[in-house]
Amino acid sequence: MGARLVIMGPPGVGKGTQGELLAERFGVPRLSTGDMIRAALEAGTPLGERVRAYYEAGELVPDEVVLGLVAEAFDGSEASGGFVLDGFPRTVPQADGLGELLAARGIGLDAVLSLEAPEEELVDRISGRRVCAACGLVTHVRAVGEAAACPDSDCRAGLIQRSDDRAETVRNRLAVYGAQTEPLLAYYARSETGLTAVDGTGTLEAVRDRLFETLRTAEMAG
Ligand code: ADP
Repeated sequence: MGARLVIMGPPGVGKGTQGELLAERFGVPRLSTGDMIRAALEAGTPLGERVRAYYEAGELVPDEVVLGLVAEAFDGSEASGGFVLDGFPRTVPQADGLGELLAARGIGLDAVLSLEAPEEELVDRISGRRVCAACGLVTHVRAVGEAAACPDSDCRAGLIQRSDDRAETVRNRLAVYGAQTEPLLAYYARSETGLTAVDGTGTLEAVRDRLFETLRTAEMAG
């Protein structure tokens, strides 16, 4: 069963984690522009060098760069059976660009999901977030303590903090979200697909179940 989904929400709300669970559930790839950008930064490609300063300051990278990355992912056969877009679109021009990419392929979106949580919870989740430098696992200091090794018993590499997860950058990312991305909620609410808001508080499993249930109900209604 394919699906064409967008998962939106502020930094730290759990888009990546829940986007991955949705992608697994529907058997489609998760296309995360944040992951694409981090891969370019790590590989030190010219594109990576071009966007490093934006990324580290918690600013958005230019729309044309991100649209190029998404177009490339769409052109690979990977996304032909559906996708979960995570962290994209983030600006009105990106949403317009996505509309054009979809229209050119004769397809539409099945749902635009908006995950929501109060700001204190977002700051706590992001500032405590740790990622494994080797396998990419994402966890929280609450679960593993400070300076821990990767909890995956086959990995055990060191956990690090993402360079844009430092406290001063986090505040900027939240401000950027409010100024540039929040207007997209109204944009999609007015669109043919509509906007589906989902409560992002509680455990990972509780949020997952809420998302699955919301999509199941929407399918039955549609
Ligand atoms: P989060 O949603 O927690 O901020 P992401 O991995 O989605 O994490 O994004 C991290 C950073 O990557 C952003 O602060 C921004 O610099 C860059 N980025 C990711 N997606 C986009 C996008 N669609 N447009 C512009 N910049 C982006």
